[in-house]
Amino acid sequence: MKIAITSGKGGTGKTTLSTGLFHILTKYFNYNVQLLDCDVEEPDCHIFIHGQKSASYPVSISIPRINPELCTYCGRCKDICAFHAIVMLPAVGFIEVVEDMCHGCGACSYVCRDQAVVEQNSMIGSITHYDYYAKDEFIEGRMNVGVSLQTRVIRETIDHANQKSLVLYDSPPGTSCPVVAVVSKADYVVMVTEPTPFGLYDLKLMTETVKQLGKKCGIVVNKAGLEYEPLYDYIRDQEITLLGEIPFKKEYARAYSKGEILPEKDDRLKKIYINIIKSIMNGKAV
Ligand code: SF4
Ligand code: SF4
Repeated sequence: MKIAITSGKGGTGKTTLSTGLFHILTKYFNYNVQLLDCDVEEPDCHIFIHGQKSASYPVSISIPRINPELCTYCGRCKDICAFHAIVMLPAVGFIEVVEDMCHGCGACSYVCRDQAVVEQNSMIGSITHYDYYAKDEFIEGRMNVGVSLQTRVIRETIDHANQKSLVLYDSPPGTSCPVVAVVSKADYVVMVTEPTPFGLYDLKLMTETVKQLGKKCGIVVNKAGLEYEPLYDYIRDQEITLLGEIPFKKEYARAYSKGEILPEKDDRLKKIYINIIKSIMNGKAV
């Protein structure tokens, strides 16, 4: 089973929940479990999960280089590039690939009849494996600074999931392509929100996305106790299962800022996390 943990915006408690669920599953349940940090632009599960590094893999793409001396400026490469990554000014003998826009699809080198395009590997990120409690695995996808191919790094990170394990995806926040790349691979989606007008607004967008993708889902309310009833009205109207509520407490915020695993903070929290897992596993939430 693959479970994506996501939220409509950053700072809602998504990573706290992902890492807490991973920790509880590892320590108290008899599953082989993997946590994949797919928030590759700003991966931060490592702040909470202190594993033993076991392997590291580069993520690279083939970026074309064009040799102006061989180029006849026929324009085939420019015409086929769906990402408008090739700038060609025949009048001044200029042709170049804009690396930030190139997706490394290889189409330009395929259509060039003059051998003017040569492909070179360019590293855009990395995937690192860590052992956790000797048996389970935390895998972090990380995109290099200045690179814009977030979805490519996410897809490669997801490819590292073990098909026999229970897999948790810590998704990027929002509803854009990187989120869809993660959520579309999940069997179940946990949406994290908070009882505020912003939380409700983002939850509505997230719910639309998840429903369009045809995924089963449930909701966890973080910072519960802020008394914003419209959020709960919406959850009831949409008939989405409320998996659990994590209360708002200063000591929890302090624990978070120190990188502590939240459900180990007290027994009440541990029970909430265990019940969230049971709700998903028992199918009550689906
Ligand atoms: S297809 Fe080859 S020859 Fe034609 S413009 Fe592109 S690089 Fe130059
Ligand atoms: S590899 Fe693909 S995306 Fe990159 S410049 Fe060539 S055609 Fe465009």
